[in-house]
Amino acid sequence: MARAQSFGLSATARLALVQRLARRREGQEAQAASDPRGFGSIQNLKDWGLVRDAMDALGIESPFFRAHDGRAGAHSLIGNRDVINFGSYDYLGLNGDPRLHAAAAEAMARHGISASASRLVSGERPVHGALERRIAAHYGAEAALAFVSGHATNVTLIGHLMGPRDLILHDAAIHNSCVEGAKLSGARRVPFAHNDLASAEKELKAARRGAQRALIVVEGHYSMDGDLPDLAGFVRLARAHDAWLMVDDAHGLGVVGPTGKGVFEAAGVDPAEVDLWMGTLSKTLCACGGYVAARAELVDWLRHTAPGFVYSVGLAPPLAASAAAAFDIMLAEPWRVAKLQANALLFRDLCRTHGFDTGASAGLGIVPVVLGSSVRAARVSGALLERGVNALPIVFPAVPEGAARLRFFISAEHEDADIRTAVAALAAAADSVPAADQGL
Ligand code: PMP
Repeated sequence: MARAQSFGLSATARLALVQRLARRREGQEAQAASDPRGFGSIQNLKDWGLVRDAMDALGIESPFFRAHDGRAGAHSLIGNRDVINFGSYDYLGLNGDPRLHAAAAEAMARHGISASASRLVSGERPVHGALERRIAAHYGAEAALAFVSGHATNVTLIGHLMGPRDLILHDAAIHNSCVEGAKLSGARRVPFAHNDLASAEKELKAARRGAQRALIVVEGHYSMDGDLPDLAGFVRLARAHDAWLMVDDAHGLGVVGPTGKGVFEAAGVDPAEVDLWMGTLSKTLCACGGYVAARAELVDWLRHTAPGFVYSVGLAPPLAASAAAAFDIMLAEPWRVAKLQANALLFRDLCRTHGFDTGASAGLGIVPVVLGSSVRAARVSGALLERGVNALPIVFPAVPEGAARLRFFISAEHEDADIRTAVAALAAAADSVPAADQGL
């Protein structure tokens, strides 16, 4: 416990850090007092300042916003140097595919770059309908609707669908966008222990009677842990307690199931059993945006009333067209899914051979390597980059302190040699960073 609170620092290092930060804070407070138009009264902003100052004091270069020159795929160019890249969601290696580029260019030539206003008023472009029909058919749903951002899709969908008399039961590891949507809705929000169906049932039984409507929200392939839910179990749970089931399969499409159709394929569940499918265009489909697939009555209501759709610009035509092209390629070229899955298993199993903790990872597109403290994860990320591999740390508060990790997104575009080189580099990088940081 003491270690968990110490962010991986030894007692002496922690004391020195606290003293440094206290000196800095005094200076900042004096400055803030003399700047009445500043934002220093916002607690979150102050907290972030503290993290940034601690990173400075510890000499940790920020691993975030690294500048890439060129397309980030299985490899990328960082600081004029070719690195093996595990920081992008290009699961099937389509971001540089000329067929996607051609689809985007054609749509741009016909419809321009922007939809230029909400589709409700600026009108439809055929590329929107073409994409939405593919998505609906994929999930055996009556209809689908595409939004300009995956995050905004969850916020507006959940925020609009549910209300203060309702219950939202969600996995404790659910994506932030679902939590934000739940907060917006004003519904009672009850998290259950990650991937624990029994815990979900217990919470649902306890809370269901007091609520008008209930929504269970799970992910198809968890973005922090890379594991899968018991989808059949959640379908049964929803039916037994008169609840709707929503699955955010942002990381499942193109990744999970023998041909990458998503978590329903892996679980052998008829996708029509799920009331709301949500996904993003930004991962396997290499565009930007989100979607919902559901019954026609719901989708029709959303397209006429959901704030994040009605009061926001329509999806950019080139993105709609390239996402549709990516969808077709994903279905027509299942070897990409097979290669991604083989790469991911190789990566996860080599990591395990080296003694790394890959948690509950299913060995699919996302493989976490849990390293301990946030400081250690940030330092190992830096040491790994020095060895030619880009993988980003996930630190507190996104994950509990002590469970900070590097998260590897695997791509079909990685070669076996990339995977082997990366795991060897990871082992060397981890060895180069002491478990507890002794000095400042
Ligand atoms: N859902 C999940 C599970 C995600 O991981 C993300 C972001 N990676 C989103 C939704 C939001 O999607 P986008 O980045 O496309 O806005």
